[in-house]
Amino acid sequence: MLIFPAALQNLSDQFARLPGVGSKTAQRLAFHVLSLPIEDAEEFAAAILEAKKQVHTCPCCQNLTDRELCPICDDDTRDKSVICVVADPKDVIAMERSREFQGVYHVLHGVISPLNHVTQDDIRIKELIDRVGKGDVEEVIMATNPDTEGEATAMYISRLLRVLGVKV
Ligand code: ZN
Repeated sequence: MLIFPAALQNLSDQFARLPGVGSKTAQRLAFHVLSLPIEDAEEFAAAILEAKKQVHTCPCCQNLTDRELCPICDDDTRDKSVICVVADPKDVIAMERSREFQGVYHVLHGVISPLNHVTQDDIRIKELIDRVGKGDVEEVIMATNPDTEGEATAMYISRLLRVLGVKV
C-alpha cells in the first residue's frame, strides 16, 4: 500500500533524481510544490520546459545560450585569437566576474574521468580542435581545475593543440 498518493510519490521521486537531493529533501520539496497556488505550480513546470527548449550550446564556444551565437562570441571587442578552455559553463561566469579576460572561451562540459567513464570523446574536445584548426587562434589558456582529472584533461588537450602549432 502506498502511503502517499501515487502522483505525490512520483513528484518526490523526480526531485530525488536531482543532484544533491536526498529522499527527505525530495519529499519536503514535493510537499512544498503541492502547497503552491496552481498558477505558481504552472509557472514552475513551464520554467523547466522553457529552459529545456530555449537553451542550447553555442556552436562556437559550446557555452550555454538562448541565442544563435552566445553574447561573448558575438562581441566584436573580444579577442578571438585567445581561447580560455574551461570545464563548465559556471567557470565562464566566474572568469567573467573578474572582468580581466578579454579573449573568448571554450566550454568542455566536463573533464576526462576514467573513474566516471568519461572519455575524451564524451566532452567537447573535438569542437575545440576543429575551432583551432581553422587557424585564427594564436593562444589557448587551459583553465580546468587544478585537480588530477582537470590536469590530465589539460595535458591531453595541450598535446593535441601543440601539434597544430598553437601556444598553450
Ligand atoms: Zn559562444
